[in-house]
Formats: sequence, structure tokens, C-alpha cells
Amino acid sequence: MAKTSDISGFYKLPIDERVAKIREVADLDDEEVDAIRNTGVLGDDLADRMIENVVGTMPMPLGMAMNFRINDKDYVVPMAIEEPSVVAAASNLAKVARKRGGFHTSHSGSLMIGQIQVTGVPDPWGARAKILQHKEDIMTKCDMCDKVLVRFGGGARDVIVRVIETMSGPMVVVHLIVDTRDAMGANAVNTMAEAVAPFLEEVTGGRVYLRIISNLATYRVARSWAIFDKDELGGEEVVDGMIKAYHFAAADPYRCATHNKGIMNGISAVVIATGNDFRAVEAGAHTFATVDGGYKPLTKWEKTADGHLMGVIEVPMAVGLVGGATKVHPTARANVKILGVETADELGMVMASVGLAQNVGALRALATEGIQKGHMRLHARNMAVQAGAPIEIVDEVVRRLAQMERFDFGTVEEVVAEVKKEKGLQ
Ligand code: NAD
Repeated sequence: MAKTSDISGFYKLPIDERVAKIREVADLDDEEVDAIRNTGVLGDDLADRMIENVVGTMPMPLGMAMNFRINDKDYVVPMAIEEPSVVAAASNLAKVARKRGGFHTSHSGSLMIGQIQVTGVPDPWGARAKILQHKEDIMTKCDMCDKVLVRFGGGARDVIVRVIETMSGPMVVVHLIVDTRDAMGANAVNTMAEAVAPFLEEVTGGRVYLRIISNLATYRVARSWAIFDKDELGGEEVVDGMIKAYHFAAADPYRCATHNKGIMNGISAVVIATGNDFRAVEAGAHTFATVDGGYKPLTKWEKTADGHLMGVIEVPMAVGLVGGATKVHPTARANVKILGVETADELGMVMASVGLAQNVGALRALATEGIQKGHMRLHARNMAVQAGAPIEIVDEVVRRLAQMERFDFGTVEEVVAEVKKEKGLQ
């Protein structure tokens, strides 16, 4: 049968029938069906309610990063990630930070921005003035949308109006500034933006199109700093190399993308582990990296008077402990308990600290032996499986590869074949 993606009414089918359809279309064998069909801890009901057209779940390793001490409190940090060496690096560098007091953090508060795009206004500056005149009314309308949020101390805090030039002419862009407390807040803010739009049309005579949260959460910034002991890092020369690596990122967007990706290795792993929206955090972080012009590192590195490495991170952290999947996903709930955070602000500050630890880990590896040696040793397990090693010989294959200090795929294949032969597995 030719492969088709036009399966009418797929969404209405029970999960087993959806899987049967996919099996037929993609010619899956039993093992492949088992690999997609397992709904794990979510079970069919929960998984099927979370998104559409569900056939199963996609498990990902969950590791615990150790040694994090943040504002004199200890944290075990759950990280969900498919990439080797991230959890190990976070744990190692958190240990280095511990020697000089751990991480110290602050937060700008839990304010999100909802945008409303008003178009077709002949007098945009006049419209701006009229909207601001009705600021209190607008904020009251927002608060009326979410009494629960208001009860938890949140709600509208400000209205900012910008006039921007676009390819369609000037537009009036209204920013609702909303304190979303322990929620990430996208749904809450989107609801408010939609609710006040007709009033804005009335006040301005314009036409509203978009009403949606901005993921550039500049009023929800988490900061963390730590001092990393020069001797633990490998001496002053290593520190100098690391600072030069940072200067390279600050001067060159090609390097900077990878510098910031390394930071997000840590942050996104905690965002996923806690059931938060990693696309929102990623989009916010990378755009925040551009707000001062150019694309810049999310971290800053310098040497203290006594030669240690001081690092600072500042990153928008639109994450929650309620709302979205955070309270729905049983693993996310357990992870939040392991983490022991009380507020979304605290969660954001932990995530920022993990990002800082991850960055210093990458800088140290890059400025010394390169990241591949450690990374490939850890990645060798995946490569062995990919080369056809049954699980019982993976450790032996990795041991031999480490002894040879060779991790290219060709060698992995040779070693897998060799061990399989010795054990009579082929
Ligand atoms: P939500 O609507 O599920 O929950 C938030 C609500 O929980 C609040 O509005 C409030 O009424 C209630 N609440 C209860 N206790 C609270 C407390 N202590 N603090 C604050 N609120 C409390 O979720 P949300 O956080 O508004 O939105 C997050 C979801 O929106 C995520 O799933 C995200 O993926 C999705 N989303 C994101 C975007 C985007 O980022 N661009 C766009 C649309 C939707």
C-alpha cells in the first residue's frame, strides 16, 4: 500500500486503532509498534488528553544533577535530556562552585507581557495617548478575566503603548504587563489580551489583529552568579583560556550560538523535567541575547582580584509550578518535589544557575582538552547500540574503545563485531 498521510477521522479513533493505522501506513513490525505505543506513566487517558492524535509517548532519560548549592540551600536537580555529558558537567561544575559559596541569585519578578496589535489607526500617537488615559479601565478588565490569579496575588500591573513602523505602516502595540505569579502565564495573558481588544478598538477606532503573549519576557529575568575556584578549574592559564572563549562568543555570533546552546542544554533539561514549555524559554533566551544589539552571550565571565573565575547569567525564565503540563504530568510533579522549590521565581533561579554551571563546564572543556574526549566516551554507549551491540555487551565495547581512545563510528562497529564474535552472538 502506498504511504498516505490522508487518514480521515484519525483524531476520532481510539489509540489502538490509530496505532493500527500507523502500523499499516508505515509498515511497522511488532517491535516498532511497541516502541511508539507505550504511554508510560501518563497512561492512555492522560496522554490522549494532553495533545491530539496520540499514539504513545516518547521516553527520555531523566538524570539528577548533584552538588547544587544556591543561596545557601541544597538542590538535587532533575534533568530530562537525550544528550550525554550534560548532567555530569552540571554536577561537576556545581561542585566546583560549592567550594566558593555556590550560586547566588536574584529575580526581577514574575511579570509577563501580552501584546495587542492595533492597526489602521490614522493618528497612532493620539491613539496611544487615549489608550494610556484608560489604563486603569484596561487593567480592571484584565483582572476580571482571572479572579484565581488575582487571589494568588497576581494580575495586571501596567499598560505600555508603543508605536512601531512596519511594512504595513505604523501600528499601535499595546503591552499588558501581568504578574502571573506561579504560572508561566501564556493562557492567562492571552485570555486578557483577547478580552480587552474590543475596548481598544472602541477607544482607538482601529482594528485589532493579534492578541498574544510575548515570549521575550524581559520583566521575568532570573540572575545567578558564582565564583569558580581557579585551582579546581585547572589553574590560572585555564581560567585565561576560558575568558578568551567567552570573548570569542561575545565578538562572533557563529560562536555565540553554540555558547548559548550549551547554556540551554542545562536550562532546557530542567524546563522539560518540570513539565514547562521549553520552546517558550528557548525563544525568550535567544531573543533576550539580542536586546542590546547583535547576538550576545547570556553569561558574562571575568577574573576576580585573586584570579578565580566569576560568572554571571541573566536570562528570561517564563516557567511555572501551576498551569500547562506542570501539575498534570506525574513525572513533572515528582521532579518539582525532588527539586524542593516553592515558587516559580525560585524555579527560574535554579534553572539560571544550572545554565551557568553548564556554560562553565563547556568553556573549561573547550579551553583545555576539547569537549569531544569526555563527550565521546559518554556517547560511546549510544554509538555501540547504534552499531548493533546487544545491551549485555555495551559496557565491554565502551571499555575497549576507551582503552584505544578511539570513538569514531568505524572503530565502534569493528569492536562491536569483535565482541559479538567472541561471545558467539552472531
Ligand atoms: P494555565 O492557564 O493552565 O494556568 C494558569 C492559571 O492557573 C492562572 O491563570 C490562574 O487562574 C491559575 N492559578 C492557580 N494557582 C495559581 C498560582 N499560584 N499562581 C498563578 N496562577 C495560578 O497556564 P498558563 O501558565 O497561563 O499558560 C501556560 C501554558 O500556555 C503552557 O502550556 C504553554 O505551553 C501554553 N502556551 C504558550 C504560548 C507561548 O509561549 N507563546 C502560547 C499559548 C499557550
